[in-house]
Amino acid sequence: MALIVQKYGGSSVADAESIKRVAKRIVDTRRAGHDVVVAVSAMGDTTDELLDLAGQVAPIPAPRELDMLLSSGERISMALLAMAIHSMGFEARSFTGSQAGMITTADHGSARIVDVTPIRLREALDEGAIVIVAGFQGFNRDTRDITTLGRGGSDTTAVALAAALQADVCEIYSDVDGIFTADPRVVPKARKLSVVGSEEMLELAANGAKVLYIRAVEYARRHGVLIHARSTFSSGEGTWVLGPGQTRPNGEEEEMEEPIVAGVATDLGQAKITIIGVPDVPGKAAEIFKIVAKSGANVDMIVQNVSAAATGRTDISFTLPKGDAAIALKALSADQSEIGFDNLVHDDQVGKLSVVGAGMRTHSGVSATLFEALSIAGINIEMISTSEIRISVVVRGDDLAEAARVVHTAYGLDGDIDATVYAGTGR
Ligand code: ASP
Ligand code: MG
Repeated sequence: MALIVQKYGGSSVADAESIKRVAKRIVDTRRAGHDVVVAVSAMGDTTDELLDLAGQVAPIPAPRELDMLLSSGERISMALLAMAIHSMGFEARSFTGSQAGMITTADHGSARIVDVTPIRLREALDEGAIVIVAGFQGFNRDTRDITTLGRGGSDTTAVALAAALQADVCEIYSDVDGIFTADPRVVPKARKLSVVGSEEMLELAANGAKVLYIRAVEYARRHGVLIHARSTFSSGEGTWVLGPGQTRPNGEEEEMEEPIVAGVATDLGQAKITIIGVPDVPGKAAEIFKIVAKSGANVDMIVQNVSAAATGRTDISFTLPKGDAAIALKALSADQSEIGFDNLVHDDQVGKLSVVGAGMRTHSGVSATLFEALSIAGINIEMISTSEIRISVVVRGDDLAEAARVVHTAYGLDGDIDATVYAGTGR
């Protein structure tokens, strides 16, 4: 008998039928003799709809109230799920984040879990109940207010519960069969991975893969939680996300050989800002990125050109989340004369493609394959950045899907059949 934490995303509980299907899955796990703790997301696009509604009554909703509102989405699904399980003859009890002991920082909308005190969950388990916890939310001890963990936060709830309860596995259910070598919606020939290293998973998640959220993977890595990403719509084995020293249960040793390229991630959520005519003297980059950081924008890639000898000026481009572009542009414009640049150009029609693989550390020629594939496809590269196990390029947004497909083929990642996508929007 094991303790299994399961997380179901919004598309898995989108309507009454789906909730009943999930309830059945949970009951099946219970019938197999396991203790089950479930973290559940809000139904379908509830969170987006609530955000929308908030925007209609207030241009900038008060953060405390927004968290009160958004946290209600998960309360709806948790109660419905518990009811569905009851009607199948099993004992289930739902808990809000605060009842479950999810203690967080006070940052509304982006709170971090600092402690988990699952006293009531333990009691319920000891009494033989299936435990359902509202994902994505917690409670701050100082303000005594409800907080939310940021979009996609239910993954983190599940992993934090698994860590606190020392669960045997944390199963994250979504509408795809596991972690793929690329987003199957973009690259139909994407293949499901049976295992992926947590380090690779972090890079994939940080660079646009939406199947698991980065904070959840980080938390799992730090606390040694074993993640199994699976589909709500099939019973097949999904993908095991393995941290240092972890192995797949019943898995074979040879699977752990590090692939040169584990996967290709795509991200259409970025914008590019170019600062034209920056004086090429010491201190300018520091000045610029201090201003950008102070604006609250989150910079990703940075490229600085060689300065033109005649002018002693250079261009600096950087990428950032689309939603951060306005504040960064405003902050830079305000200090234009102080920095002394000529012009700002904002481009939100870019796409970022990243190739990730732990084996890159020890293999050469990995980037040449990427550039060659793009060149044959006639796709222009606008920016390049690398880390130890990742190469990323920025291309035109319109070219991104095609770029992902040719690169996926070039690294020999294509599967024989098209991947199955069961429902929803990827969450
Ligand atoms: N319902 C929240 C969201 O849509 C949390 C989650 O789904 O994980 O972001
Ligand atoms: Mg959701």
